[in-house]
Amino acid sequence: MPTPYDPQNIFARILRGEIPNKTVLETEHSLAFHDIAPQAPVHVLVIPKGPYASFDHFIEKAAPAEIADFNRAIMQVIADLGLAEMGYRIISNAGVHGHQEVPHLHMHVLGGAPLGPMLQRS
Ligand code: 5GP
Repeated sequence: MPTPYDPQNIFARILRGEIPNKTVLETEHSLAFHDIAPQAPVHVLVIPKGPYASFDHFIEKAAPAEIADFNRAIMQVIADLGLAEMGYRIISNAGVHGHQEVPHLHMHVLGGAPLGPMLQRS
């Protein structure tokens, strides 16, 4: 069952212009901006402009044009920031087990240096 969308989440506030961001790319349906606490030399978040809490919610409810735009925006960020040649990682955390902190769908785009193994178990 998808998480209900909270319109007061921080990315909704960024989309409304209530909180500043360092924009990398804006398209009709998506926004990409630098993460405030980067985990790699390049750490960009790509979000849909629509009110979707997580990837499953997005795929279930979004229009095909929004889904296509979101995927193209991710690839545009990868191209614009020169990540394709040496590689990158895209991650979307969802829900409690996914350790999602902001309940608006976002894809982390990470790169710019070797990123190490995907998960470090604690
Ligand atoms: P999550 O854990 O939900 O997958 O990732 C949330 C991400 O949002 C984190 O990497 C965190 O650093 C980032 N973040 C949280 N608040 C802000 C903010 O106000 N501005 C930006 N640019 N990133 C934020």
